[in-house]
Amino acid sequence: MDATPFDYQAVLDQVARDVAPLVGAGTPAEYIPALASVDPAQFGMALVTMGGKVFGVGDWQVPFSTQSITKVFTLALALSAEGGDSLWERVGREPSGNPFNSLVQLEYENGIPRNPFINAGALVVTDRLQTLTGDASSELLKFLREESGNPDVAFDAEVAASEHEHGDRNAALAHFMASYGNIDNPVPALLDHYFWQCSIEMSCADLARAARVLARHGLRADGSRLLTRSGAKQINAVMLTCGTYDAAGEFAYRVGLPGKSGVGGGIVAVVPGRCALAVWSPGLDAHGNSVAGVAALDRFTTLTGMSVF
Ligand code: GLN
Repeated sequence: MDATPFDYQAVLDQVARDVAPLVGAGTPAEYIPALASVDPAQFGMALVTMGGKVFGVGDWQVPFSTQSITKVFTLALALSAEGGDSLWERVGREPSGNPFNSLVQLEYENGIPRNPFINAGALVVTDRLQTLTGDASSELLKFLREESGNPDVAFDAEVAASEHEHGDRNAALAHFMASYGNIDNPVPALLDHYFWQCSIEMSCADLARAARVLARHGLRADGSRLLTRSGAKQINAVMLTCGTYDAAGEFAYRVGLPGKSGVGGGIVAVVPGRCALAVWSPGLDAHGNSVAGVAALDRFTTLTGMSVF
């Protein structure tokens, strides 16, 4: 299963050398102190094969704030718990072409967010997971610990509190959607779960291991099935078209893989049937995507030809 035509370690080492001049470029997220104070001169990348072999370079074992990357896993859990297509009545699956925290489309589209990876969509998905499981953020943490094999994966209470303190826009999104009947739980409780999810700390190694379920067409680390093959395909498709917000077209053009970014500077990417990747460098571009992270994935698919195109 792990037979591969590539020396993945050599590829990652090459990628790290090639993007070194970009590490530190861009600006770390500034909306909360815990992110603004992160040293921008960090870079890590990890790759996990279908069989679970891990390769890494740079700061690949350093935990960082996963932020919106967890939206992928929340979606996977909600779709699995829902067990059908009804989630898609509450959230769309079209690229928004707008920033991740935008409010503008919601009024025209009756409180139905464009996709699950902008903040509005992730709030709806978290609301569904909360209704279906009774504790959305604990379900997510449990899943991430199991898939990464790392029992130390945890929430960061300081980040979660900071998110709350600066959470007016997310609160506005949630209340606005609630006014259309598209949120079932009380908004303050929903926001708690959303901010806990944003605060989860993981390393590139942890994230790549967790994303392996999407490379393995829905099979979890223990061999049980989380998603049907088409469920995994659908999530990968939405990652490709919406995972990097209003830069998803550019990301597809440069990287050519399903990918999901977070404002902590991390990005996960999936090569279906081959491997899962995670990269981290805190400096962000104007869309909220890691400058060195996008460049590293670009180099990876250029060197290996392993894009989906
Ligand atoms: N905590 C951030 C927010 O809700 C997550 C956004 C992101 O990572 N793109 O605004």
